[in-house]
Parts: sequence; C-alpha cells; structure tokens
Amino acid sequence: MNTKNALQGSKETLGDLPKNTTCIVCEHVFSRSRPVLFIAREEGFPIEFMCGKKDHFGADSGKVIGLGHLLEWDNSLSVLNVPRNGTVLERRDGNDAWQVQSSMG
Ligand SMILES: [Zn+2]
Repeated sequence: MNTKNALQGSKETLGDLPKNTTCIVCEHVFSRSRPVLFIAREEGFPIEFMCGKKDHFGADSGKVIGLGHLLEWDNSLSVLNVPRNGTVLERRDGNDAWQVQSSMG
C-alpha cells in the first residue's frame, strides 16, 4: 500500500497530507473572495493559508477548516511541498510562483 516511503520528508506535498489536517484560513480565503497568497507554518500551530492583504495581517479572525476543503478550492496548492516550521511563503497573485521567506517577520 505505502509505496511513497522514499518520497516522505521534505518532499511531502500538501496533497499527501490527510484531508482532515487542520489548517487556518482568513475570512477572505474562507469565503473564496480572495486567492491564497500567503502561507505560514509555525511550530505548534496549524498551517495558515491567508490572502496576504495587510488589512488583517496574521491569524486574526481566522477560520479553522480541513485541508481537503482548501485543496478543493485551489487544487494547485496540492503540489506544494509541505512548509517546514518557521517558514513563510508568499506570491503576488494566484498564477505567480511561491517565494520562500526563511523566517517569520
Ligand atoms: Zn484575507
């Protein structure tokens, strides 16, 4: 069954994670009114998927959802490598490449 052992670790993608993995989205991603442009992972917290706009920077008013829902909304996220703890990813729009920031601002 588990033929992907060699790919586990840093090459694991978001699509490899269980669909019920807890993550946090901002209200705009939750309502699907804005694309995901900001991803942050901090040790001890669920991965955050935000629209990246500064009008509510951080996890204020964040909604908790299952990862499976998020990947249904934006399937392009499923091929993204799982970010390590302390990593921030940003992109300018939904078609842009993700830029890795090494630490939390
Ligand atoms: Zn937002």
